[in-house]
Amino acid sequence: MTTVQLQKTNQPPIKAPRGSYWITTFGCQMNKADSERMSGILEYMGYYPAEEELNADLVLYNTCTIRDSAEQKVYSYLGRQAIRKRSLPNLKIVVAGCLAQQEGESLLRRVPEIDLLMGPQHCNRLESLLNQVDSGQQVLATEEQFILEDITTPRRDSSICGWVNIIYGCNERCTYCVVPSVRGKEQSRTPEAIKSEVEDLAKSGYKEITLLGQNIDAYGRDFQSQNKEGSAQITLSYLLKFIHDIEGIERIRFATSHPRYFTRELIDTCSELPKVCEHFHIPFQSGSNKILKNMGRGYTIESYKNIINYIKAKIPQAAISGDAIVAFPGESQTDYEQTLSLIDQIKFDHVNTAAYSPRPNTPAASWPRQLNEDIKVKRLREINSLVENIAKERNQRYKNTSQEILIENINPKDSFQLMGRTRTNRLTFFPRSLENGVGNKLGELIKVKITDVRPFSLTAKLL
Ligand code: SF4
Repeated sequence: MTTVQLQKTNQPPIKAPRGSYWITTFGCQMNKADSERMSGILEYMGYYPAEEELNADLVLYNTCTIRDSAEQKVYSYLGRQAIRKRSLPNLKIVVAGCLAQQEGESLLRRVPEIDLLMGPQHCNRLESLLNQVDSGQQVLATEEQFILEDITTPRRDSSICGWVNIIYGCNERCTYCVVPSVRGKEQSRTPEAIKSEVEDLAKSGYKEITLLGQNIDAYGRDFQSQNKEGSAQITLSYLLKFIHDIEGIERIRFATSHPRYFTRELIDTCSELPKVCEHFHIPFQSGSNKILKNMGRGYTIESYKNIINYIKAKIPQAAISGDAIVAFPGESQTDYEQTLSLIDQIKFDHVNTAAYSPRPNTPAASWPRQLNEDIKVKRLREINSLVENIAKERNQRYKNTSQEILIENINPKDSFQLMGRTRTNRLTFFPRSLENGVGNKLGELIKVKITDVRPFSLTAKLL
């Protein structure tokens, strides 16, 4: 574990132009937030965004390895850049993220054209690592790292909604998951550092923040040993109260939760804090206790349902979403049907589904009773159609109701339409008002009337 002293900087002045950059991000919100941090560092160094990937002077792939398909995608991109480098020796190729951490030196051997290979814990060391590259080295940065606060400001994709990392890494040991081995142990940021980032966002006009963590409900547990007698326990509940009254921020969301640590106290806190949106993303993964045990998830279907029932009792209008894995090793037809039945019982607003994909360095990958592709495809197709039917059914409750929408963007598919989300995280499209300017501005909170519903989005008209 190495620690490096970093001096906070107020971003500009920007250094002499060093060339254009292009970042391609794979995977989850954590990776998207890390890419925004790395963009901020590159621009602080003097790089500027390239028009397109194939004319950038520096290309950075922020990789994912949660499933084999995500891993394979990267190699095709790297192949193209390796060819470019033969005619452009000054081209810089950077591979960051979870696959970089997982593969390490073997990826450098496989693609020797890579200049810098860095794990997720090294995001905010990008400048010093690239300086080593500029001095002619090929750099590998995957050693375990204590993550200090960033000294540069992320270059965010949205000017309305901001991602805010609150805890890095994960201490769980789910038997199918690579995250602990590639993102390391849990490291919570201090409430003060998080509050100052949210205050900066509010000053820059952001209206919504999403607090991020692989296992967000574990926030603060790595502080416990430092807690003084009688001092407040640093938890997600504590943090939500600590940042709630920051002026300018209208909506607060958080992801991703773990049923093992999702407490009634947290639900009570969310029901009492008006800015905390009524949407909870709580992956359940399977409806079978046998499979949950083999996954090492640490809860049962009964305890999971208790959490959902308490949410529905305390916050009846809440939207519930989850994640499910089908065809986990040893999953019988009965186990699988228990997953379908759980989805039907709880009536999820949305479920992210995936077929089990054996990952390196995970226990389940070497287990017997791996299921074949046909079963995976069949079960995935069935569960997706169930999820879609229930999502459409659930969306009926919005029809002809008025909903508060935060205008996030112009619909990329129809420039006469704007898009935003309800507090329950439902994507909503509505026509731009060409009259008095109301209902036009990004970042505006407006009331709309829902006129039509689809499984995963709504249509509305301005009220
Ligand atoms: S909680 Fe489990 S599934 Fe989630 S990141 Fe941690 S190990 Fe992976």
